Amino acid sequence: MIGIIGAMTEEVSPLLIRLTNLQTHTIGNNKYHTGRYEGREVVVAYSRIGKVNAAVTATVMQQHFHIDKLLFSGVAGAINKSLKIGDLIYAEKLVQHDVDITAFGHPLGFIPETGDFFATDPALNTIAEETARELCVKLGKGVIATGDQFIADPDHKDWVQKRFKADAVEMEGAAVACVCQTFQIPYFVLRAISDQADMDAGFNFDEFLVSSARLSADFILRMVAKLDTAK
Ligand code: SAH
Repeated sequence: MIGIIGAMTEEVSPLLIRLTNLQTHTIGNNKYHTGRYEGREVVVAYSRIGKVNAAVTATVMQQHFHIDKLLFSGVAGAINKSLKIGDLIYAEKLVQHDVDITAFGHPLGFIPETGDFFATDPALNTIAEETARELCVKLGKGVIATGDQFIADPDHKDWVQKRFKADAVEMEGAAVACVCQTFQIPYFVLRAISDQADMDAGFNFDEFLVSSARLSADFILRMVAKLDTAK
């Protein structure tokens, strides 16, 4: 079973409309949709926004649906100047930019016995590169920084860039990575840029959420069709 998570309904509805054999399971206060795509069994859910919600959803997918891979699809703010609205980027590494226990001598983002940067699965990243080549789509890669803040401020954006060498910022990826690291599930995080994390981010986000979310979802489904579901 392949798990696919988005944060918001706009990020998962383009996936759900393409599945067959849809069944809905309510667990806690959230809905998990099982179905099939190109012969693969998938479970899809939107977690709601933020790290805690994303961690709960990823954990339920592991415990209840026994997923052997987890893919995240959604939108993000661009930090790297080369990224424009609608561009796709996948995470090679993710970090929690809002974790700060530096008072004890730890680096920013670091949690003892957990670490700071979470590395994504090289095999899934290779499949993403192949998918991009087949579709002739530009696919960026780099560091995605996650925190429970919508970044819409040039100074804050610069700070995240300088401290973590981040290319994009969002609010769920590193939480999903942390859960997958805990349960040793290979995972992949894809984002389509919805805004530049600057003063206009709120307006841009509202304008481009649906179109960017669809670009990410389309790419994720192309990847699903290439996946071997055996562990
Ligand atoms: N408009 C929504 C809130 C969206 S929060 C509401 O009112 O309910 C932003 C969402 O998109 C998060 O899920 C986050 O992962 C992603 N995101 C896009 N741009 C972002 C940015 N500049 N900073 C942080 N997260 C961003």
